[in-house]
Amino acid sequence: MSTPLPLDETALRNVVTEVLRGLGRPAATEAGARPAAPKPAAAPGHPPAPAPARRSAKGGRFGVFEDAGEACVAAHDAFLQLKEQGVAARAKVVEIVKELVTANAVAWGKFEFEETKIGRLDHKIEKLQIVKLVPGVEWLHPYGLSGDHGITMEEYTPYGVVGAILPVTHSVPTLSGNIINIVAAGNAVVFNPHPGGARSAALAVRAYNEAIHAALGIEHLVCTVAKPTLESFDVLAKHELVRILCVTGGPGVVQAAMKSGKRAICAGPGNPPVLVDGTGCLKKAARDIIQGGAYDNNLLCIGEKQVFVLASVADEFLAALQAAGAARLTPAQLAKLTAAAFTMAKDAGGCSHPVLNRALIGRDAAVLAREAGTSVPEKTPLLFAETDASHPFVIEEQMMPMVPVVRVATVEEGIAAAVKSEHGYKHSAMIHSLNVGHMTQMARALDTTLFVKNGPCVAGLGLGGEGYLSYSIATTTGEGITNPKTFTRTRRCVMVDNLRIY
Ligand code: NAD
Repeated sequence: MSTPLPLDETALRNVVTEVLRGLGRPAATEAGARPAAPKPAAAPGHPPAPAPARRSAKGGRFGVFEDAGEACVAAHDAFLQLKEQGVAARAKVVEIVKELVTANAVAWGKFEFEETKIGRLDHKIEKLQIVKLVPGVEWLHPYGLSGDHGITMEEYTPYGVVGAILPVTHSVPTLSGNIINIVAAGNAVVFNPHPGGARSAALAVRAYNEAIHAALGIEHLVCTVAKPTLESFDVLAKHELVRILCVTGGPGVVQAAMKSGKRAICAGPGNPPVLVDGTGCLKKAARDIIQGGAYDNNLLCIGEKQVFVLASVADEFLAALQAAGAARLTPAQLAKLTAAAFTMAKDAGGCSHPVLNRALIGRDAAVLAREAGTSVPEKTPLLFAETDASHPFVIEEQMMPMVPVVRVATVEEGIAAAVKSEHGYKHSAMIHSLNVGHMTQMARALDTTLFVKNGPCVAGLGLGGEGYLSYSIATTTGEGITNPKTFTRTRRCVMVDNLRIY
């Protein structure tokens, strides 16, 4: 038997340092090692994979960048750091976002309200308070197969950097919900917000990154462009490190994203119709329509935008709307408001079409009433008026607390008018009915992503109905209500003829 040699401690330390360096990890005594980032333990007998090359981030502080390209590079570096720290780190980020958005709901809601000047302050705050309902890492379950030929696992893995576009209608709510989904799936993200909500986005991004940095040592996991422009969108859409786009906005940006050559998850425009067939409770239908249509002054893409009601119950329904707190406009007042809310423009074919006056989007019902030449109490949630089915308030996604009500002779006529007003966006629709046949007929004809029966639109996002919340409903491209799985690549790992235990 040989006698063991005495250990040279310095030589051993040098060997360990060299091995760690070779694996791309800083040795414990090396200067510049990230202090707060816990490293995942490698599986016994399996050294960690070498870290991919990182490019260093320039310019930005805690995720807020002047230059979109630099933000993409920084986000990619952060993605690689997140990858090293595993699923526990993703869960920590989700926890941080949910805690901060809840704790800052009032301050950030006020900030966004003052910056965007649209919607209602109480709802701006509430939209932040409910972000905690967005699903996180718990959503991702691998799909396993086991059979005579072994076992197979399909896993939902990240893309890398996601480029995301925010609407002005819900800047911080969409940003926060997107971060939860995107980071839960293991990605980093760069936002190009709407210029009108960019300061709110930067405020939240900075706070999130400061907390993420303190907990995990990663500074730029969620990035935003401080002064977004169409050019910065273009940089994001073309950047080699951006793997997919997530667009929440109207037709213009959806079209631009689809032309970018990158895969785009598009949460596009809507114009949700409502059908009231008189078989259910008209008072409840009126209350639900006010709840959804007046929410944040009708800025929700899922919000009730026009109502078709069976003529036989129309008078009773209109009275129920008024009794529930909505204010009715006369035909003359409607004409005045319509002239203020739309201008007629000639399109390329020479026909004229209404163009929305964006200055009135998301304004209070009392402001719209003044434009209509009347006055209503300041707290009035919603205006309504009788119109025909081709009125601009029916056809355009007007995002104002003014809901047009159209009498229809039959359910078939109501469904046909609803289909026309929805423009094939396949976004959202509602019905108030106890007739299962009518519900089925409308669901099939509209073919929308969300279809709510006997409730306000928000019930479709888990607020009073079963389901989960997201502020990005991928209607145009069909992924539906986005969740962490939406931002993953499915990868399959196969073990042939082995490891099956039965
Ligand atoms: P918008 O289309 O004016 O702007 C949305 C975003 O796209 C902004 O960041 C804007 O700067 C950018 N943008 C606009 N045109 C662009 C172009 N040509 N190229 C590049 N970027 C461009 O919409 P908005 O007023 O901010 O938001 C309201 C719209 O968003 C409505 O149509 C609403 O239905 C839709 N929306 C949809 C969802 C959904 O989940 N499906 C959610 C919220 C809002």
